[in-house]
Amino acid sequence: MTRNPRLEINLAKLTDNARTVVGRAAAQGVEIVGVTKVCCGAPEVAMALKKGGVAMLGDSRVENIARMREAGVPGPFVLIRLPMLSQADDVVRQADYSLVSDVTTVRALGQAAARAGRKHGVIVMVDVGDLREGFWPDQVPVAVDEILTVDGVELAGLGVNLTCYGAICPSPANLGILTGLAADLQSRHSLKLPIVSGGNSSSLGMLWNGTMPGGITQLRIGEGIMLGCETLERECLQGLHHDAFVAVAEAVEVRRKPSVPIGEVAQDVFGNVPAFEDRGVHQRVILALGRQDAMFDSLVPCDEGVLILGGSSDHTILEVSGREAHIGDEFRFTPGYGALLALNTSPYVQKLFLS
Ligand SMILES: *Cc1c(COP(=O)(O)O)cnc(C)c1O
Repeated sequence: MTRNPRLEINLAKLTDNARTVVGRAAAQGVEIVGVTKVCCGAPEVAMALKKGGVAMLGDSRVENIARMREAGVPGPFVLIRLPMLSQADDVVRQADYSLVSDVTTVRALGQAAARAGRKHGVIVMVDVGDLREGFWPDQVPVAVDEILTVDGVELAGLGVNLTCYGAICPSPANLGILTGLAADLQSRHSLKLPIVSGGNSSSLGMLWNGTMPGGITQLRIGEGIMLGCETLERECLQGLHHDAFVAVAEAVEVRRKPSVPIGEVAQDVFGNVPAFEDRGVHQRVILALGRQDAMFDSLVPCDEGVLILGGSSDHTILEVSGREAHIGDEFRFTPGYGALLALNTSPYVQKLFLS
């Protein structure tokens, strides 16, 4: 049974996208971690990415990794948000690796791993300028010396994250800091660091142009596989599907009305003072879909003649031209990342998996 609103998830397209990204990466010596966080670790999506050949699955939430494990999805699993001290036991039970940027955390993971009788892999994050997580590059050698003494954990490698907080682009210079540190550590400690994790979907452009610097062995890719784009300019990447996800919502009112509200203007429901373009009297459709389901400002209508005018918690208002709309009509949209996140996390939205 289909319900509205719903998110249609085309698993075959996700497998195709994963396979294409994995193939491009393999040609440059790079493995792919398929990142499932935008889908809350939906096991169906995780299996689709595994089928496409991703080497590992990554998620930001221990709960999502547990969900995948319980559904029998094969790992290995990487926790890609820095672990909470209070979750150390769950982290080592559910995840095979985690990204870390603090020695105290690594010690807690080591103790938890010892209690559980396991080894936990850690990937030490280096901040090369985006100013989210990571040791400052000059702190890495000392941190690694300490981490190498912690029982229960294994240093699996180094990583960076870019283009999240600071919107900094990956470059030969900043990725070079990472690969340089990895090379120094390997020769100084005569150890092998199998993972040099060079970022997220913002690095896909380099992969597509064949300009990924040598020494990067892994990328962690979510949005690129899900939506088929890189994330510097949100350019579509050739050979990927851009419509694996479609949001569907239903019309609950259709009426011709003016486009400019009548009366004195104050604040709207979100505290903004709105401005309205006079588009004359036009056909307006109210959808039963709002911010509780999706960020309507990051939805793109699939059909011609549909314009999103605005919305509130539970409603989205459209202008529909060129045809008669009717109550009960379904309208289809391609979600951007923000909308996709909301659609997946909203309990009001049906997730319909298409194979
Ligand atoms: C979300 C996230 C990713 C994946 O990012 P995309 O842009 O969706 O590919 C990779 N690494 C970390 C640490 C993340 O938080």
